[in-house]
Amino acid sequence: MSLDRDTLFIGGDWVAPASSETIQVISPHSEELVATVPDTTPADIDAAVAAARHAFDHGPWPRMTPAERIDVVAAFSGLYAGKLAEMADVITAEMGSPTSFANLAQTPAPWMQIEAFLGIAREYPWEEIRDGALGSPVMVRREPVGVVAAIPPWNVPQFTIMSKVIPALLAGCTVVVKPAPETPLDGYLMAELLVEAGVPEGVVNIVAGGREVGEHLVAHPGIDKVAFTGSTAAGRKIAAVCGEQLKRVSLELGGKSAAIVLDDADLTTAVEGLKFTALMNSGQACVAQTRILASRANYAAVVDALAEAVSAMQVGDPMDPATEIGPMVAQRQQERVEKYIALGQEEGARVVIGGNGMPEGLDRGWYVRPTIFADVDNGMRIAQEEIFGPVLSVIPYDDVDDAVRIANDSDYGLAGTVWTGDREAGLDVARRVRAGTYGVNTYTMDFAAPFGGFKASGLGREFGPEGLGQYTELKSIYLENPPAE
Ligand code: NAD
Repeated sequence: MSLDRDTLFIGGDWVAPASSETIQVISPHSEELVATVPDTTPADIDAAVAAARHAFDHGPWPRMTPAERIDVVAAFSGLYAGKLAEMADVITAEMGSPTSFANLAQTPAPWMQIEAFLGIAREYPWEEIRDGALGSPVMVRREPVGVVAAIPPWNVPQFTIMSKVIPALLAGCTVVVKPAPETPLDGYLMAELLVEAGVPEGVVNIVAGGREVGEHLVAHPGIDKVAFTGSTAAGRKIAAVCGEQLKRVSLELGGKSAAIVLDDADLTTAVEGLKFTALMNSGQACVAQTRILASRANYAAVVDALAEAVSAMQVGDPMDPATEIGPMVAQRQQERVEKYIALGQEEGARVVIGGNGMPEGLDRGWYVRPTIFADVDNGMRIAQEEIFGPVLSVIPYDDVDDAVRIANDSDYGLAGTVWTGDREAGLDVARRVRAGTYGVNTYTMDFAAPFGGFKASGLGREFGPEGLGQYTELKSIYLENPPAE
């Protein structure tokens, strides 16, 4: 079945793009053409924002009750549940996510987000009466924030679209989604499901394109709020524009998270966990814990156990269910990771496994060899900068205080884990690390709880009631006491 498209999803319809420019989606595994779709231009963005604006200012969606919107989103959820495998395959085809990961996180997780947000919306205090401090009641309402620009990255496209579109819909907002040019295809499937679920026209518009149209969308006067996931560099630029225009903005940005292995950890369990937390999605994950902190006493044992476990991971065709590490999304990403591997060697770190060159048995595709560096100092660039590939740095620490200091010695603060035989000791570390999410002997994102970054990892939170709140404006209505007859 061809994945080619020649239209954009604007105003509830499939419309011809303003120009004949196209995006060619290339398989990171075979380097062959997967599909051709229109490349959005500023004129298309203008049309999408106009449709979303009209739907917000004049359409039914913001005026429906929360319960009515919940029914439509629940219908969408039911349809989405039937498409998980197909959607996962599309994502694997466009960006190379191993199918084992795609069928766990690329589509089941977004569906779980929808279900979690539905539960939260059913209990949410959309309109509450408070006892006022002056003796009169006050009504506090949560109203939709307006027209939302949702800008996801390519690494987990549906995951980062749902975390924005679903709370926006439940709150009564309308949305323009601009998928990244690497991953335009899953958005088309999603649009079909939105139509089938009965989401009114113009409420969600999906127009894939690159950075320039992203900038046009962010600065557009018709947008009330920007919800962005991507690099810290782009996040800073977006925050500056939103600051100037006083637009609401939430930012989910980069990370360089640390996993701390305490001496009492069961090493087999810890290494099994680290393989996932560090290397999920071939290392192309914002929460990837690629700094692994081991005590000097336990250092050699941790390095050896990690090297053995990672060497055994299957690298190759992302459609093979046994594959654990697939290709990088693009040639430029392959080159970027290779540059960091060379840089680590120049900085004096020791390559334990991997290094530059193609993985064994592969002669095409944008692959890199999973690489573990030992003898890494936390001040090195490979320990400070986000590489976004399967490259791990094992860093020695003196004692637990030193481990916490190293974990916190980062511009970022997105995630982290501690591996220990003592939950209380783990919780003590968890409380001291400045990161938005943290795991004790596990790292499973829970959509009931807020997710986001400290420091340069972001602004605002997704998921949980807090994530829904990002799409609301608070209004207080003062009532007279006693009420007029
Ligand atoms: P990127 O910042 O280059 O692009 C992200 C998205 O923003 C794309 O759709 C892109 O077209 C668009 N864009 C880029 N510059 C823009 C601008 N100035 N104005 C408007 N739109 C702009 O990031 P990427 O390479 O696609 O994604 C990888 C980054 O995303 C990593 O840094 C990763 O850590 C981060 N990420 C963060 C989270 C999180 O939840 N914190 C989740 C996934 C990925």
